[in-house]
Amino acid sequence: MNSFTDELNRRLTALREQGLHRELRRVNSAQGPRIEIGGQTHLNFSSNDYLGLANHPSLKTAAVKAVEKYGAGAGASRLICGSLAPFHELEETLAAFKKTEAALTFATGYAAALGTLTALVGKGDVVILDKLVHASIVDAAKLSGAKLRIFDHNDLNDLEDKLKWADQFSKAESAKRKAEILVVTESIFSMDGDAAPLREIVALKNKYDAWLMVDEAHATGIFGKNGRGLADELGVSSQIEIQMGTLGKALGASGGYICGSRALIDFLVNRARSFIFSTAPVPAAAAAATAGIQLLQTETGDQLRSKVWNLANLLEHSVQACGWNISAPDSLIMPMIIGDESETLYLSKQLREQNIFVPAIRFPTVARGAARLRITLTAAHSAADVSELVAALARLKSETSHLESP
Ligand SMILES: *Cc1c(COP(=O)(O)O)cnc(C)c1O
Repeated sequence: MNSFTDELNRRLTALREQGLHRELRRVNSAQGPRIEIGGQTHLNFSSNDYLGLANHPSLKTAAVKAVEKYGAGAGASRLICGSLAPFHELEETLAAFKKTEAALTFATGYAAALGTLTALVGKGDVVILDKLVHASIVDAAKLSGAKLRIFDHNDLNDLEDKLKWADQFSKAESAKRKAEILVVTESIFSMDGDAAPLREIVALKNKYDAWLMVDEAHATGIFGKNGRGLADELGVSSQIEIQMGTLGKALGASGGYICGSRALIDFLVNRARSFIFSTAPVPAAAAAATAGIQLLQTETGDQLRSKVWNLANLLEHSVQACGWNISAPDSLIMPMIIGDESETLYLSKQLREQNIFVPAIRFPTVARGAARLRITLTAAHSAADVSELVAALARLKSETSHLESP
């Protein structure tokens, strides 16, 4: 027992020495533009609640009603004890929203990735991932047992090289059975905020007869008509076999989803182990997500989107004006790449002392030496909130101008 604790303490010390140690910060308020940490109100620029729906009255009312009618818990896996109506309402709403034949929801986006990839491909198949895809997809690809190939971030030439290799591999294996080739990317990348060239990726996967899965975790709710996503905005959603996303970001609730053909969804109900062997989420989460998707498609949804985009433009220009490198907003994720882990932690701490919460994103969320402050905006912020952040960053800039990498 003692040597176990000693070993873990050694590992924790190593993490601290590398600036990689993480800890939970207790928040005594709802998520929103202001959160209470340690008795202090902080301006919050850390959440993925892009439209401010997590604490929206419509979603809260829907959740409360679902608790009153369906109770607090779901009882078992949906295949075991029956599948509560709020999940079906959510999936019908999602499929109509994404204009697909069907949808399936999971407890989290992570579980959606894990269950879906491992159901669709296995030993003898090939999975090709963008280098910067989310950990849930990397873990799923590894667990699937398929051959794994990584292409350089958003690099179409490198993707084509990997597809050519997979095509050869597929033919060599063809005596046994046809190897499937699955390409997985994100539409908006979670830690860089840049967009994938989805039209070109669709053309390539068609050329090599591969399948395509696109994770729209950071695009759903924000891009496309009514917030249907970037694939919709680019007019390619009908050519993407597997459309994935989360209900926990712009949709303000919790859970993960897959949208696609009826056959895909029926197959996942039968084969996605993270769906089959896991208790259904609480019905309140499903009801809140349904309310979130409905709200996206109203005039209020349009107003929230246009508000948050205006704030993003304001923030980008003001932060650049005070001398920081901040990525242009392809999205609402605005990383300030610092590089060194400890320096990034230091900057985040300095901001927190001014009651502003911007997280230091470090390895393993991003590569070593690519640490960053990741600023995210929500429609619940005001222009005054943005000005307050900019003023704090300007003060920090003058104090720490030696730190920033070019
Ligand atoms: C957050 C995220 C997920 C996981 O979704 P959860 O619902 O939080 O489990 C998957 N993919 C990407 C790109 C994400 O950013």
